[in-house]
Amino acid sequence: MKRIGVFGSTGSIGTQALEVIRANPELFSVEVLTAHSQDELLIKQALEFDPNVVVVSDETKYEAVKKALSGTSIKVFGGEAALEEAAAMDTYDIMLAAIVGYAGLKPTLQAIEHGKVIALANKETLVVAGDIMVQKARASGAAMIPVDSEHSAIFQCLVGEMRNPIDKIILTASGGPFRGKKPNFLVNVKKDHALQHPNWTMGAKITIDSATLMNKGLEMIEAKWLFGLRADQIEVVIHPQSIIHSMVQFQDGSIKAQMGLPDMKLPIQYALSFPQRIPNNFTRFDFKKANTLQFEEPDLRTFRNLALATEALHKGGNLPCIMNAANEIAVWAFLHNRIGFLDMMAIVEKAMEKVTFIEKPTLEDYFESDAVAREFAAEMVKL
Ligand code: NAD
Ligand code: MG
Repeated sequence: MKRIGVFGSTGSIGTQALEVIRANPELFSVEVLTAHSQDELLIKQALEFDPNVVVVSDETKYEAVKKALSGTSIKVFGGEAALEEAAAMDTYDIMLAAIVGYAGLKPTLQAIEHGKVIALANKETLVVAGDIMVQKARASGAAMIPVDSEHSAIFQCLVGEMRNPIDKIILTASGGPFRGKKPNFLVNVKKDHALQHPNWTMGAKITIDSATLMNKGLEMIEAKWLFGLRADQIEVVIHPQSIIHSMVQFQDGSIKAQMGLPDMKLPIQYALSFPQRIPNNFTRFDFKKANTLQFEEPDLRTFRNLALATEALHKGGNLPCIMNAANEIAVWAFLHNRIGFLDMMAIVEKAMEKVTFIEKPTLEDYFESDAVAREFAAEMVKL
């Protein structure tokens, strides 16, 4: 029985992970559930899965959760610091890291220090402090298994190939709802339109990141750390059907791809069941019914974010951390109708230009760079 801690259990990834666990009660048990502010859903999940520990990081929701679970043996904690405490507990073995954004960094670092297996959905943590996470994982023996569909694809392509050097990886991107659009169109785009992803249903932040192509930029940096690649080994291609989830090209020129219908439950299940594959009843891809699979170059001029992330990938240091922080603020502002679609990319670009570059940051430097970049971006949003 694998004991799972679902950090971010009320989100898109968290709820799909619970579906996978619900379908396989003989393989998985839930020992930790955490959420930020959706107290009602968290309570419902706790009553169903009976974990050892529940954390609600928004302290204003603590009393409600505590009261609702008072008749049970579940331990309830409130506040951000409790996330780190729960992450360090030995009540679970696998952390499903499904908190969105920078907020997931500290609990994930704790889990790594405690040698847990990390099923990693939260790509922003690797973007912010990938070098430190990898270092700490080496020291503690913690394993990181990707949940992000592209990285799961690459991970699956690499099974049995560990001694064979990678020539390059090819990350596929759907292109999002605005593929082929130009700035004169994008300038007027509103959040309702940007939230309509053609192939995937996901949380709001990653859906906007997919529309700006920042998601693919974050994923390039995520891949660098997960697979120990050089920047020039990471390529992005637009593939609007999202059937090929990503590819690896080896030294002999042979390319392996992992394919399937777009459904996050598959990479979530693989990360939890690894190294085994377990049966399920998810809909299968049918080649006979498939239309063509298309591929095209990304438009880096219009979707500046992908060019900016490529720059951050190459320069390294604290630049990815600065980019991520500015992007989190910009996406928040766009989702609150404070800025336009193209402003998001302008804010990220300015923050990357203005916030002090550090070539070899410490963990403290990352915390500081994140705070400074957020402040800088927040200042721009007001203007
Ligand atoms: P979501 O917004 O649906 O859920 C986020 C979860 O994090 C919720 O449980 C919420 O309670 C929690 N949370 C939010 N703010 C928090 C805070 N400040 N402190 C503590 N907890 C907080 O997001 P999602 O779409 O499930 O994405 C989660 C992560 O997985 C992201 O990093 C995303 O990039 C990654 N990811 C998601 C998908 C997807 O299909 N949704 C695919 C690949 C990768
Ligand atoms: Mg992805």
